[in-house]
Amino acid sequence: MTTITDTQAIAVLDKFRRPLRDLRISVTDRCNFRCTYCMPAEIFGERYEFLPRADLLSFEEIARLTRIFVSLGVIKVRLTGGEPLVRSEMDKLVAMLADIDGIGDLTMTTNAYLLPQKATALRNAGLHRLTVSLDTLDDAIFREMNGRGFGVSRVLEGIAAAEDAGFRPIKVNSVVQRGVNDHTLVDLARYFRERGHIVRFIEYMDVGNLNGWRLDDVVPAEEIVARIDAEIPLEPAESNYRGEVASRYRFKDGSGEIGVIASVTQPFCGDCTRLRLSPEGTLFTCLFGVNGTDLRTPMRDGADDAELINIIRGTWSVRTDRYSEERSSMTDELRSLRKKVEMYHIGG
Ligand code: SAM
Ligand code: SF4
Ligand code: SF4
Repeated sequence: MTTITDTQAIAVLDKFRRPLRDLRISVTDRCNFRCTYCMPAEIFGERYEFLPRADLLSFEEIARLTRIFVSLGVIKVRLTGGEPLVRSEMDKLVAMLADIDGIGDLTMTTNAYLLPQKATALRNAGLHRLTVSLDTLDDAIFREMNGRGFGVSRVLEGIAAAEDAGFRPIKVNSVVQRGVNDHTLVDLARYFRERGHIVRFIEYMDVGNLNGWRLDDVVPAEEIVARIDAEIPLEPAESNYRGEVASRYRFKDGSGEIGVIASVTQPFCGDCTRLRLSPEGTLFTCLFGVNGTDLRTPMRDGADDAELINIIRGTWSVRTDRYSEERSSMTDELRSLRKKVEMYHIGG
């Protein structure tokens, strides 16, 4: 069998000369929440058929592909879903990935519900950082938004468990929707500033086809920053690295920072170096992708590393994705005709 070293894989550029740097691995399409903007409960009910277990990539398959992606330039790996922690023994996968040379940043995005049981094992297995999603501190609004009636306290317990396990600072993702939780965003910024964590406010996106997105529901990042600045003065901070999705702002009193992810009003496709691997082993070169590239079939048919590298190179090298930049010139009708992959399927 040909191995990665035999083929001496080298970095690959897409059609806009963007390198492959970040890999987002969705380990499951299942979730214990039903966030209205991601997996609305009326669609993802009791009868909804998720992927059967046999269709999911095994941990060994994920680790093998990750090693190959790293040989092609990936330096950051994020585990996501669905809810990654509903897949059992995630600490084992983390340990396998932490063993791969060349990953500078190994992270996970989670709704935190299962962190009280799992944070320590994840840390011990070698997970570098955690991002927790929490849209508001208002209990009634949060219960509505997560579609399952879970209270804020459960997420805060998860964050406390992560702190105890040694994760710090924690990034807190908050999707902002006009008329839903936008009036609570300053409270969220204030609460986590006092605890040394970093809230990243995300513009509500038209991912997938199920959330009934309307541009009017988006609170532009500029407005989010202005609202916080009016109460806790902010100043822009430089990016940590090229291609960082969040724009950073420091509190002027030196007490920390926030980030805003302006994927709708200030798209950042020009610097997009992200590749997504779905739970069943399909590659998507864009969050708004329609068709993916199947890696599971060739892998299970016995393809060696060199063959898989060829498929991945072939996929990345013809990449021309820039959906968020194109969105503003698309009519609502054109947008609704595009059958995009769902967010819960490929992760954020
Ligand atoms: N279940 C995990 C969680 O919620 O943290 C990981 C997967 S979730 C799909 C990843 C991120 O995508 C979350 O922070 C979530 O808030 C965000 N997200 C989901 N749907 C979104 C949308 N329509 N617009 C913006 N962000 C969204
Ligand atoms: Fe689940 Fe995360 Fe989607 Fe919410 S955003 S439904 S927690 S996958
Ligand atoms: Fe990257 Fe696609 Fe998002 Fe643009 S729209 S930043 S290409 S994932």
